[in-house]
Parts: sequence; structure tokens; C-alpha cells
Amino acid sequence: MRIAEIHIYAYDLPVKNGPYTMAKAEVYSLDTTLVKIVADNGLVGWGETCPVGPTYAEAHASGARAALAQMAPGLIGCECWPATLHRHMDAQLNGHNYAKAALDIALYDLLGKQLGVSVADLLGGAMADRVPSYYATGVGAPDDIARLAKEKLDEGYPRLQIKVGGRPVELDIETIRKVWKQIGGSGMRLAVDGNRGWTTRDALRVSRECPEIPFIMEQPCNTIEDLAKIRPQVSHGIYMDENSVDLNTVISAAGTGLVDGFGMKVTRIGGLQRMATFRDVCEVRNLPHTCDDSWGGDIIAAACVQMGATVRPDLLEGVWLAAPYIEDHYDSAHGIEIVAGHIQRPTEVGLGVVPDEGCFGSPVSSF
Ligand SMILES: [Mg+2]
Repeated sequence: MRIAEIHIYAYDLPVKNGPYTMAKAEVYSLDTTLVKIVADNGLVGWGETCPVGPTYAEAHASGARAALAQMAPGLIGCECWPATLHRHMDAQLNGHNYAKAALDIALYDLLGKQLGVSVADLLGGAMADRVPSYYATGVGAPDDIARLAKEKLDEGYPRLQIKVGGRPVELDIETIRKVWKQIGGSGMRLAVDGNRGWTTRDALRVSRECPEIPFIMEQPCNTIEDLAKIRPQVSHGIYMDENSVDLNTVISAAGTGLVDGFGMKVTRIGGLQRMATFRDVCEVRNLPHTCDDSWGGDIIAAACVQMGATVRPDLLEGVWLAAPYIEDHYDSAHGIEIVAGHIQRPTEVGLGVVPDEGCFGSPVSSF
């Protein structure tokens, strides 16, 4: 089976009750990119990549489409095997993992349909068909976030991530304390995500002023050097998210003990093939991690759930989806949803989600 056609689509995903607020950005609507690969036997696979605005990661929506258009002509005729695809993509374009990921996901979808198995099977086999999710709050007033924390606890979420940064650190400390008052003792785990927004001074202060609250700090500061600086001085676990831009960085961070876990995005690491390697590295080092993406609709959601189902359950921190912030599904029958803080894995072939192509309009480019 070889790649015969590649089609690239742009689609606007409005944020329900927006904006979604992070330390360095507010987003009202997200521009997602979908990729359709058609094989020479007529089978079709779908992929997606959707940066959460242009300032979260070194990625932006039109960059994804430009990178895909750069690579696509050189991929026609390529055999449909993941490692082969990655070698061909790397021969066309250096870097740009988040764009390559859309093609990687589409190829796995295609391959699953060809072989009659789910993407989780292709990735080594599912260990669970119902995977835990976690809820991420925006940056908000301490009382509002505490109320939300209680609501999400009651809904059944096993883990909560609160966003901090971009404001006086006293407000972040007050938020953490008020949230813990609601969820402490319940078993719900807490992550405090700075999205690179704290100085090392702020991170040290938060850790020192909240020693009794067992949260992990996710990407508190901007750089790997910042993480290394605070590492020996804080009593809280540190997870790397935005800085884990590729496998090389992850292997170094895991190997040197720089972090206690990762927030990981399937598209940032370059797709499902690279994510499976990341999963295996983390398993060898006993490092917990999430398995999600920054934003996107049913296609990326299905990819994250299929992958998350293959992670050793005690190391899976959860699969975050943008689903609660999005109105519509691409696949009205099999759209991915979070119910009681968990997600049911589609068990049909491929990703298990078949988008209604009509909703994306005409492709922005076709090869
Ligand atoms: Mg994060």
C-alpha cells in the first residue's frame, strides 16, 4: 500500500464559553489543520494538528499547513509504514514535528483500516479501554477555580490541572490553597501548570509556601536551565511540558533525572510513532506522563486516546482533550467524549473516528 493522494484542510474550532486563558495567551477560537491520506487501494486515513494559538509552543496553524505543503509532493508513492514515512518526511523538511505528526496519525489510521485493527493495537495493544482524563482550568480568581475544582471532583475526574502564572504569584498561592481545601484527601491528584510563566524566584516561593500540598509543578519556568536551577531547591515534583520538544530532549531529561514526569503532546513529539518511543523510555525510567495534545477535534482526540490506552496504567497521568471546550464533533456517531472524567476508547478499526468530510469544506491544498 502506497500513498496516492494527500489533502490538507483548515477548520475553525471556536472555544465554548471562551476565552481559554493561559499564562501567556488567551484564545477564543483555534485554527486546526486536518490531513487526509488516500492510499493507492482507495483506503483513507485522517490526521490532525492544532497548536493552541501561536504563543504556546513553537508552532502555529499556518506554519503547519506550509510545512505539510512543503513535504506532501515528495511523499506521494511512499510505502505506508510509519518509520518509512518519517524517513521520507525528514528527507523533505528538517524539524516541524507538529506538522509531521498530522501525516503520521493519518498513516496509522490508514494502516489500522488496512489490517483490520485499531491504532492502539498497532501501537502495541491497549491495556485499558477506558482511560482517565484530567481537567485543566484556565488562570482565574482563586474562589472561582476552587469552585471549579470541587465541580470536577464531583464529576469523577481523577486529576486536576490548574493554570497559574502571568499575574502576582500571591494569587497563584491563594488559588493552590483554596483548591486543595476542596480536593485534599479525596484522592484527586493536583498539577500546577505555569506554562513557562513563573520566574525561578516565583517557583521557589510557591514550593516553600505550600510544602504540605502534594502537587506537581508542570513547566513552571521558561527554560531547561531554569528547571535545572530550581530542581535541587524545591520539594515538589517537576514535570516538563513545553520544553520537551523532541525525543533527544526527553531522553536527556529522563536520563539525567532532571524531571519527575512529563506533560506530553502527541503532535509536539512528532506523532504516534515517536510517542510510542517516548512511552517506552518513560516506562523504563518509571516516569509518569500525560498523553494528550494542545488542542484539536475528534481526530487528534482519538489519536491521544488510542495512544493513552497503551500506556502502563500506573504511569498514565491522563489524556487531556479539548472536547469539553468544543461544541461539535467531526463524527456525530463516534465523537470522543469525556464522561465522569474518563474516556472510552473507540474499538473500531484505525482511529475509530470517521469525520464527516463535508464539515471541512474544500481542501486548502491537494497533492
Ligand atoms: Mg502543560
